[in-house]
Amino acid sequence: MTGPNPADMNSKMPSYFNLPALDVSVAFPQATPASTFPPCASDYFQFDDLLTPEEQAVRMKVRKCMEKEIAPIMTQYWEKANFPFHVIPKFAELHIAGGTIKGYGCPGLSMLGSAVAAAEIARVDASFSVFILVHSCLAMLTIALCGSEAQKQKYLPSLAELKTISCWALTEPDYGSDASSLKTTATKVEGGWILEGQKRWIGNSTFADLLVIFARNTTTNQINGYIVKKDAPGLTATKIENKIGLRIVQNGDIVLKKLFVPDEDRIAELNSFQDTNKVLAASRVMVCWQPIGVSMGIYDMCHRYLKERKQFGAPLAAFQINQQKLVQMLGNVQAMVLVGWRLCKLYESGKLTPGHASLGKSWISLRARETAALGRELLGGNGILADYLVAKAFCDLEPIYTFEGTYDINTLVTGREVTGFASFKPAAQRSRM
Ligand SMILES: Cc1cc2nc3c(=O)[nH]c(=O)nc-3n(C[C@H](O)[C@H](O)[C@H](O)COP(=O)(O)OP(=O)(O)OC[C@H]3O[C@@H](n4cnc5c(N)ncnc54)[C@H](O)[C@@H]3O)c2cc1C
Repeated sequence: MTGPNPADMNSKMPSYFNLPALDVSVAFPQATPASTFPPCASDYFQFDDLLTPEEQAVRMKVRKCMEKEIAPIMTQYWEKANFPFHVIPKFAELHIAGGTIKGYGCPGLSMLGSAVAAAEIARVDASFSVFILVHSCLAMLTIALCGSEAQKQKYLPSLAELKTISCWALTEPDYGSDASSLKTTATKVEGGWILEGQKRWIGNSTFADLLVIFARNTTTNQINGYIVKKDAPGLTATKIENKIGLRIVQNGDIVLKKLFVPDEDRIAELNSFQDTNKVLAASRVMVCWQPIGVSMGIYDMCHRYLKERKQFGAPLAAFQINQQKLVQMLGNVQAMVLVGWRLCKLYESGKLTPGHASLGKSWISLRARETAALGRELLGGNGILADYLVAKAFCDLEPIYTFEGTYDINTLVTGREVTGFASFKPAAQRSRM
């Protein structure tokens, strides 16, 4: 027996199968979807008072851009797991790429200015905050902190203008939490280095013009950094499909086969994993501001939704249980912001320790997950639709909880600092730090 040919079936489908999805606000006019972003109601303790006028201005310009340019399109791009390249010039106009880096066309923002920019991006869409943080606070910062003067002059200006886009490749298929054991090799040859190995999960890597790649120098056995160009022979980057979160971010699996890097593109002052830690200290503070921003957006969305949507003849906001959840979320956001603020100040005063940054990242992302779960409940059925933000944010928080050190690893970093015992390895392999 022969069945129908699927290709024929497609052509015989009724025409409504080809129609674009209906705008959710037509099907459900009772509450405004996130494409019209809710006003900010989450700044309850008036955090703005802790910002300088410049930092307040950065905050407002980023918020305005995100609400206008990204909110209307984000659900569609998130659903299709595509990146809207056409908005990159709008981001370039904000002049925030490069964050705290001074000179070389970079904005030289304060730590807090850069942090509130990250939070305002994440408040609307976490994927965009990851796109910009990978580019700015990982790849650009590695060049700024560990590159030679010539490398900074050559690469940073076009990265700051977002004319070129970068990624940062540390993780490997066999080395995630245990990244310092990575196995990609860099072997010295005449005039340069040959890289061999694999990388996994690398954000922006499918389209990045410039890739910062970490590899083990086969002469010193130390981890070094290399700048690789998009079209280098021996480089392939394949998009990781089927993610449940940060779907707009293009994460890639990278394969490096006999890839030649000229001497001038070995990152001059990146000679060991300790040098990478200088970058991670700053980037981990910035990463804290992603779950903060996401939680702000979730609260703002729920606050509006509960006032718009009625059941039993009253707005959802009038029910005590809903108020309790909303206030718990609001309390979380206030505490997260204050912890994030303190981390920025500790960093700027030179007092930030790895344990501080790790406690900030682990605790904030834990509270953000709780906030998202409460928000998801508050929206009822619409709490599982990306159109009302919370479901999308709920999913986006999962990878945020895991990257830049999982919750567990960051907890162990702080645990080591406060007890003096490192417990990353099984008991038999442990030694006192
Ligand atoms: C969306 C996304 C984007 C990313 N972007 C980048 C990027 O741009 N560049 C980059 O280099 N990397 C990136 N990563 C990689 C990310 O940093 C790693 O996924 C992360 O470090 C965890 O590694 P893993 O996934 O291999 O998990 P594993 O290390 O396999 O961990 C699995 C589980 O075991 C736990 N675990 C592991 N070791 C221990 C231990 N010693 N004690 C207790 N528990 C332990 C972990 O906490 C976790 O729960 C990204 C990841 C994701 C998901």
